[in-house]
Amino acid sequence: MTARMLASKPIVQKLKAEIREEAERRARGGAPPGLAVILAGSDGPSKAYALSKESAARSLGIAFTLHRFGDGAEEAEITARIRELNSDPAVHGVMLELPLPKRLNAARVIAAIDPDKDVDGVTAESRGRLLQGRLDETLLPVTPLSCLTLIESAGIDIAGKNVAVVGRGETVGLPLAVLLIKRSATVTVCHSKTADLKGVLKRSDVVVTAAGQAGMIKADMLSQGQAVIDAGITVLPDGTLAGDVEKRAAEAVSWLTPVPGGVGSLTVTLLMKNLLKAMGLQGAGRAA
Ligand code: NDP
Repeated sequence: MTARMLASKPIVQKLKAEIREEAERRARGGAPPGLAVILAGSDGPSKAYALSKESAARSLGIAFTLHRFGDGAEEAEITARIRELNSDPAVHGVMLELPLPKRLNAARVIAAIDPDKDVDGVTAESRGRLLQGRLDETLLPVTPLSCLTLIESAGIDIAGKNVAVVGRGETVGLPLAVLLIKRSATVTVCHSKTADLKGVLKRSDVVVTAAGQAGMIKADMLSQGQAVIDAGITVLPDGTLAGDVEKRAAEAVSWLTPVPGGVGSLTVTLLMKNLLKAMGLQGAGRAA
């Protein structure tokens, strides 16, 4: 049997329609949603990611500003701009394209972002709220959120399920594991020192991979009935994208997300959804 593909396109279309409607409603009320993206240095993919956010924002009626800093920019210049954006009432979300140039201290720059405008869920405060289970008050990081959204789109109720997460990285695996625990899944987090990866994966109802190792998850490590969410993205020498799961695995499981067209294709839309949530948090803050 071949797995049903869990593509993000239908989810993106539905979410975009909802976001556009909400953005128009907010604009009619005098507060169009505003997103600011900070791009520091000349990392190629970061520029492309920032531009894809710009076109998504504009297509949804969201005001977008790009704040570019050259390779020689000082940390203080960037944090000063972030603080300006924090106090700008027309800006509801501040997103920093990562990675930053190595000579900058990413943790200090991230710490300057107002947690209620932290649409990418990267600040220590956002992570703390997630750990405390304050999900309504937290802007969740979009790649883990994309994984969860795709699992739910398969009609899977994650509560009580055995879920294996491959990767304990700060961007995907670790926050996803916490999010899944908060949703009452029984979670096993695997990493490069895991002794019996195949055994753990075989026993799981759901497998989410975020290792960034093209094709490392083989068909014989998986089982029929499983949903497999592949968050891994590797750019191959020929320029194409590959996930962590080998393509042949589609015959071994029940649900599989494609790469490209799966986890990564949903993240920009979820960022815009987070922006609307951020507006709610900021509104609630002002009313208190
Ligand atoms: P990191 O790149 O920081 O870490 C990778 C994790 O994978 C580590 O925990 C590592 O283990 C684990 N790992 C690597 N090789 C193996 C292996 N052979 N067996 C088991 N575990 C292994 O994680 P991030 O969270 O930053 O990103 C993970 C990947 O997610 C990225 O490489 C990228 O491909 C993808 N990504 C996708 C996005 C999307 O939009 N779809 C967005 C962001 C990232 P250990 O800790 O022991 O070293």
